[in-house]
Amino acid sequence: MKEKLEQLLARGREEVNAASDEAALQQVRVGLLGKKGDLTAIMKGMGGLSPEERPVIGALANRVKQELEAAIDQRAAILRREAIAARLESERIDVSLPGRSGWRGSKHPITLVTEEVAEIFGSLGFGIAEGPEIEHDFYNFEALNIPKDHPARDMQDTFYIDNDQVLRTHTSPVQIRTMLACEPPVRVIAPGTVYRRDSDLTHSPMFHQVEGFLVDEHVTFGDLKGVLTNFISRFFGDGLKVRFRPSFFPFTEPSAEVDVECVICRGAGCRVCSQTGWLEILGCGMIDPEVFRSVKYDPEKYSGFAFGMGLERMAMLKYGVDDLRLFFENDVRFLRQFA
Ligand SMILES: [Zn+2]
Repeated sequence: MKEKLEQLLARGREEVNAASDEAALQQVRVGLLGKKGDLTAIMKGMGGLSPEERPVIGALANRVKQELEAAIDQRAAILRREAIAARLESERIDVSLPGRSGWRGSKHPITLVTEEVAEIFGSLGFGIAEGPEIEHDFYNFEALNIPKDHPARDMQDTFYIDNDQVLRTHTSPVQIRTMLACEPPVRVIAPGTVYRRDSDLTHSPMFHQVEGFLVDEHVTFGDLKGVLTNFISRFFGDGLKVRFRPSFFPFTEPSAEVDVECVICRGAGCRVCSQTGWLEILGCGMIDPEVFRSVKYDPEKYSGFAFGMGLERMAMLKYGVDDLRLFFENDVRFLRQFA
């Protein structure tokens, strides 16, 4: 038995050191020291030993067991260290590699232009007003001196929801809502989304306008010219020529359209300005007394001016964008340029 135990110790050590991972080592342990293992099998022969031999073999068996356990623990510690080292190696991070940064979003050019317009008029004392995009006929047409048979009400141009409601065709109804809610003096601009049944290279069924108006006692066309000229020079930069051309709108009298010297060719004539050297950018005029009557302002006491412009057009001219559709396609390669 002594010989068997010594052989077991020698063979066991070899097996332990040959175990290549923790699972294999566990198998070796069960094979050597488990309930059905080799040591147990040898110890079953204890019964046939003489009383003198028994304590000697018992002590030897204990020593073999302890030495095998020590060898297994040692091997386990080595395997654990190797596993950690291997994992560290495989998961190593190269801190010298450049980082992968996320995309930083940018404001949409229409938002940028809207904010700039609001900032310039804000510095002139204009507040911001808002109104619903689904609008009653009264606010969108009637109160703005656009009677039932006016061509602007044509089904071709307007999205009707029912007989009384439309998707607003301009931001002007906000003017009516504001005047009905506030007594003069009022100074507001109303930026927002508007809708028309129009879709081609230069028209989109949804687009953006900013409306503005000022009502007080003794407001003149000179005030209108002063405010808009100041706005234009701050928005497009100093030195551009501006001209006011007589025009017609149902809700202003007199009315004018405002042109600026072409920002592309500086008046020399190019494709963008159709060789005229001028770009039309906004419509304006003195608010018609009929509009004042519909909001119960006294036209004998108060006067005021109103103006409106398309924000897509302002953005196209400011950033040199030549296709309206770019604003609605949401191609990030386009939008990223405004970061
Ligand atoms: Zn031009």
